[in-house]
Amino acid sequence: MRVVICGGGVIGACTAYFLSRHGVDVIVVERTEVAAAASGKAGGFLARDWCAGTPLDALARRSFALHAQLPEEIAGDWGHRPMTAYSGFVADDNDPRRNTPSALDWLSDGVVIAQRIGTTETTAIVHPQKFTSAMMNAAIVQGAELRRTRFTGIVRDGDGARAKGVEVDDSIIEADAVVIAMGPWSLLAANWMSLPALYAQRSPSIVYDTGTHVSADALFLETKIYGETTSVEVFPRPDGSTYVTACPDTGAFPTDPIDVRPEPNSMKWVEEISGRLSPLFRPEKIIAKQACYRPVTEDGLPLIGRVPQDERLYVATGHSVWGILNAPATGEALAELIVEGATRNVDLAPFDPARL
Ligand SMILES: Cc1cc2nc3c(=O)[nH]c(=O)nc-3n(C[C@H](O)[C@H](O)[C@H](O)COP(=O)(O)OP(=O)(O)OC[C@H]3O[C@@H](n4cnc5c(N)ncnc54)[C@H](O)[C@@H]3O)c2cc1C
Repeated sequence: MRVVICGGGVIGACTAYFLSRHGVDVIVVERTEVAAAASGKAGGFLARDWCAGTPLDALARRSFALHAQLPEEIAGDWGHRPMTAYSGFVADDNDPRRNTPSALDWLSDGVVIAQRIGTTETTAIVHPQKFTSAMMNAAIVQGAELRRTRFTGIVRDGDGARAKGVEVDDSIIEADAVVIAMGPWSLLAANWMSLPALYAQRSPSIVYDTGTHVSADALFLETKIYGETTSVEVFPRPDGSTYVTACPDTGAFPTDPIDVRPEPNSMKWVEEISGRLSPLFRPEKIIAKQACYRPVTEDGLPLIGRVPQDERLYVATGHSVWGILNAPATGEALAELIVEGATRNVDLAPFDPARL
């Protein structure tokens, strides 16, 4: 059996890994490079039970467990590390706590840690670009092939009823099944199949070189910038870098992932906010200034499963803010669905593309 996966982000890479474990002949078609988009520029924060009470709960719990297991199974170091998580806020100028030392010594005075919201049992982090690459490499070791080319269409059989492969820049790749996993660019495939609406939401982020000075604590803080309250997320990584994101914005969604750029004002605000959080967040310590688009559906749940009216076409996208977390269980379940016709660990019914 041959399966073509379109998109080499975290969802495509995890699907390739689990499909190749079933002995399937896998070809991944990636337009730019592995983890070129959100999967290389996300925070990489993982939480076991933050989706409790929602249809995502089982997918998140299974994924969290797989994230802990995968470092034992495949080669590479992508910085999987359990960590504590705290919520808090930056005290305003007129707040008496403005000059109070923070509970975490690497943060500036006035950064108030309010509550512990995750423990090393329930929250963790990975370096998303390294994780995605490691999953793709592990798939390649198991026989998968990565082709750097652009998906341009679905090829159908004689009477047009069933897909028989994909068209890429300069050729056709025949396949028994096709998986569309191009993040927000999956919408391109709607020209050839019935896909629900998909939106792209942009966020800027900055990665700082903070060395060994920062504790393994994820922070979810509220702060004000030019009178507006915004949330800021801070994720220290085991490789000595710290990731900061805030100020999601809207912007024209480029057709080529290589053209994704941060909006200059949003980037300036993230830099300004970071500077208030810690003296470690200095301009000369910046490693990367970047932006990426999350794929979002109308009901906020991912699309995972067979596309209506074509038994050979599958989609896996729309993972929004939890794509890095939920990629392993998505890949595992989709591989089971394609190869065995049913899933073993996670029920994909809430994510059926036909629901919208
Ligand atoms: C700022 C930010 C922070 C985030 N933080 C977290 C976090 O802490 N934890 C978490 O779990 N999630 C996080 N996310 C969400 C997560 O990044 C995404 O849900 C996830 O990366 C989506 O992965 P994907 O594989 O679906 O898509 P993408 O990563 O977008 O990959 C799609 C791939 O398809 C390729 N492609 C596009 N068009 C074509 C074509 N025509 N032919 C072939 N290939 C094509 C692209 O080059 C790209 O490599 C964050 C997202 C953002 C924006």
